[in-house]
Amino acid sequence: PLVLGIETSCDETGVGIVRGRELLANVISSSMEEHARYGGVVPEVAARAHLEAIEPALRQALETAGIGFGDLDALAVTAGPGLAGALMVGVGAAKGLATATGLPLYGVNHLVGHVGADLLRPPGEEPSPPLDEPTIALLVSGGHTSLLLVRDLVTDVELLGETIDDAAGEAFDKVARILGLPYPGGPEIDRAAVGGDPAAIRFPRGLTQQKDLDRHRYDFSFSGLKTAVARWVERARDEGRPVPVADVAAGFREAVAEVLLTKAVAACVDSGVPRLLLGGGVVANARVRALAEERCAAAGIALRVPPLSLCTDNGAMIAAVGAGLVTAGRPPSGLSFGADSTLPVTDVAVR
Ligand code: ATP
Ligand code: MG
Ligand code: FE
Repeated sequence: PLVLGIETSCDETGVGIVRGRELLANVISSSMEEHARYGGVVPEVAARAHLEAIEPALRQALETAGIGFGDLDALAVTAGPGLAGALMVGVGAAKGLATATGLPLYGVNHLVGHVGADLLRPPGEEPSPPLDEPTIALLVSGGHTSLLLVRDLVTDVELLGETIDDAAGEAFDKVARILGLPYPGGPEIDRAAVGGDPAAIRFPRGLTQQKDLDRHRYDFSFSGLKTAVARWVERARDEGRPVPVADVAAGFREAVAEVLLTKAVAACVDSGVPRLLLGGGVVANARVRALAEERCAAAGIALRVPPLSLCTDNGAMIAAVGAGLVTAGRPPSGLSFGADSTLPVTDVAVR
């Protein structure tokens, strides 16, 4: 099926078009730069930027795919989770389009969209092999850190655990700020860590001690780590020592990567599912990727990492899930659903 997907859950306005698993267009307009001086996404600024970007993005996507609205079989839009005001712009636009065109509309879960990204490949690349279900999925972005058991992408997704405070990407952004590096902090820390010694400073690994594992086996916590980095840097400055930025960045990055992969591999082993799929912007992290390869190889787990261009927020991944819903014969969501900033991941599509 030919499906157009709209994504506005955070700071990327995305419009993607897919034919089944074939990617025809993926237009992304980001308001990231407007948030840079605040050190994080400002919801009102993001919503306003979506409003300005959505119409041109729709046009450009249709033009790139060489189609008109009349050619489409369905529309899909991120219904949640995400920033309420930002989501509302996408949901409103999608409902308007559905009303005007009569096309069926699917309100799609953003996190499931990140998993669905792996169904697609950029134009010119080999198509990805079909998603091998069940699979464990680790989603790590600026707003989420979640471990999922995906039995069936469009019907059966279970949340195994998630962060109880900061998301991994958020921690990267905050630590970058502590070190005086610009926003977004992930790529900056990655660069700064090159040449640093990851073992020079040992930062805490949240929720990995035996006493935490009973209740939080698959949950994450990064705010303690962030505070530990802040204290360490503060002390060095107080004592008039130069801050070894490369070592701090490398030690911090190591702590994050280790926790992520330890928990993800444990989820694979515990549930007897030897497959791990990564998603979200933090997957761009060089150490996270390297450790994922290392740990999965050691544990006999098949690792799948979507192309980086599809790991961050985009409309094509939402369209891909929409296409999956159409193919599975799922009923559309209708027009009465609203943006749901806390939509649980078990709701692949809203009703
Ligand atoms: P959501 O949480 O709703 O999915 P988001 O826009 O916050 O949305 P993404 O766009 O998927 O998330 O990812 C952005 C995050 O990824 C930022 O926090 C950024 O710092 C982080 N990031 C990007 N590159 C890297 C990297 N090389 N290393 C670590 N983190 C990175
Ligand atoms: Mg983003
Ligand atoms: Fe996202």
